[in-house]
Amino acid sequence: MNSTPIWRNWSRLESARPHRVITPHTEAALVRQVRAALQSGERVKVIGSGHSFTGIAVAPQVQVDLHRLTGIIDVDVAARRVRLRAGTPLWQIPGLLEPYGLAMENLGDIDRQTIAGAVSTGTHGTGFAYASISSQVIGMRMLTGTGELLDVDGSDPELLDALRVGLGAFGIILEVTLQCVEAFDLHIIERLEPFDTVVSEWRQRVQQVDHLEFYWFGHSDQVLTKTSHRVAPGERERTPRSPLRRTVEDELLSNAGFAALCRAGQAVPRAVPQINRLCTAVWGGRDEVRASHEIFATSRRVRFTETEQAVPVEHTAEVMGRLRSLFREQGWASSFPLEVRVAAADSAWLSTSAGRESLYIAAHQHIGQQYEQYFAAVSDVLADFQARPHWGKLHTLDAAALRRLYPRFDDALDLRERLDPARAFSNPYLERVLGA
Ligand SMILES: Cc1cc2nc3c(=O)[nH]c(=O)nc-3n(C[C@H](O)[C@H](O)[C@H](O)COP(=O)(O)OP(=O)(O)OC[C@H]3O[C@@H](n4cnc5c(N)ncnc54)[C@H](O)[C@@H]3O)c2cc1C
Repeated sequence: MNSTPIWRNWSRLESARPHRVITPHTEAALVRQVRAALQSGERVKVIGSGHSFTGIAVAPQVQVDLHRLTGIIDVDVAARRVRLRAGTPLWQIPGLLEPYGLAMENLGDIDRQTIAGAVSTGTHGTGFAYASISSQVIGMRMLTGTGELLDVDGSDPELLDALRVGLGAFGIILEVTLQCVEAFDLHIIERLEPFDTVVSEWRQRVQQVDHLEFYWFGHSDQVLTKTSHRVAPGERERTPRSPLRRTVEDELLSNAGFAALCRAGQAVPRAVPQINRLCTAVWGGRDEVRASHEIFATSRRVRFTETEQAVPVEHTAEVMGRLRSLFREQGWASSFPLEVRVAAADSAWLSTSAGRESLYIAAHQHIGQQYEQYFAAVSDVLADFQARPHWGKLHTLDAAALRRLYPRFDDALDLRERLDPARAFSNPYLERVLGA
């Protein structure tokens, strides 16, 4: 009988009981063990931190867990470059870079993912001048499905663009080289603003500030904007934050208190719009300066399901208007606000921002709550704007639909054929989105 423990992803929607788990201590051991698995015809899949909502990390046969392959391999301080082991979690990176006065250029809204996992799905933050985290990657070392080691860097930009957002389909990433920036602080201002103003001014606003996003309950006329400006450390005094204030903000308002409100909404669905208004009323007022990673990343302990899709930013007003009708006229409601972000165009073939400046719209549901119909309703609206779903977040598209959305889709499939002809790295999710 298979005694391997069951693996579950963060949202608890996906699980797997692999035949066996590899947790190598060294790169050499990883290469040796994976080559042996490839030779015996087994399917191999690396897991990161399991923070994808989709089944992208499901390993039916051999699961590779890189939590022992973490940390810095080397740093080039003058060029601001760092080579990391693929299993390094994002939350460790600020501490690793601090002695060198470096930081990652941009981050998403949590830091629990591994660097290889975040890069592989096109994980992004917000900022009109900033593409996905994968755009910070200037080099990678991979083990391909034919057992070869492949070092790719800026000397072959096409290949790097092909492999950066690789969905785990081309090979196992062993090392990632990041182009970092000098460490910086962020000055964040959160405030409530009218939905109409923010949406109509969005295109100008995102170009005037470094990082802008907003949260919006579809039944509210107001949104919570989060605007962050980059400042050099010491340029503005950092805001002291007492342990009590941290507990109130992070735990009571963002996590435990919010979880209680979600449960209340689940028990009495018709109260959700009222609960949304209560949440909106307590939002806003934050004005803080802190180290960049402390502002970018938040703690998310209330589990949820999520879909997120990227549309060309020029459609912002029309998309947001259509979504408003969904809530107001069709009566959809959720305990979670929509999250709206922006990113620069990306050259990675399978980046959701490939070739276009993108508006990202994310819808969430509390864990355990029915999400399929709500996400389908949001997705139907976004589909009219050539929406590309985040590879790690829930969606129903298959390879035929995705081919129409990505100009380099067939090139990516050709490369997959070369690097993983036996589909050793495939799983049911990849079969759906890339084909068998
Ligand atoms: C609470 C929460 C908040 C989130 N916030 C954001 C956000 O702000 N922005 C955003 O864009 N996304 C966000 N996400 C999605 C998340 O960033 C992605 O799904 C990311 O891929 C998860 O990274 P992971 O390390 O958990 O990887 P997993 O989910 O474990 O794996 C993802 C993929 O990477 C592959 N992979 C992992 N390691 C390797 C390797 N060494 N070599 C080859 N392939 C590998 C896996 O096989 C799989 O295909 C969030 C998710 C959650 C749960």
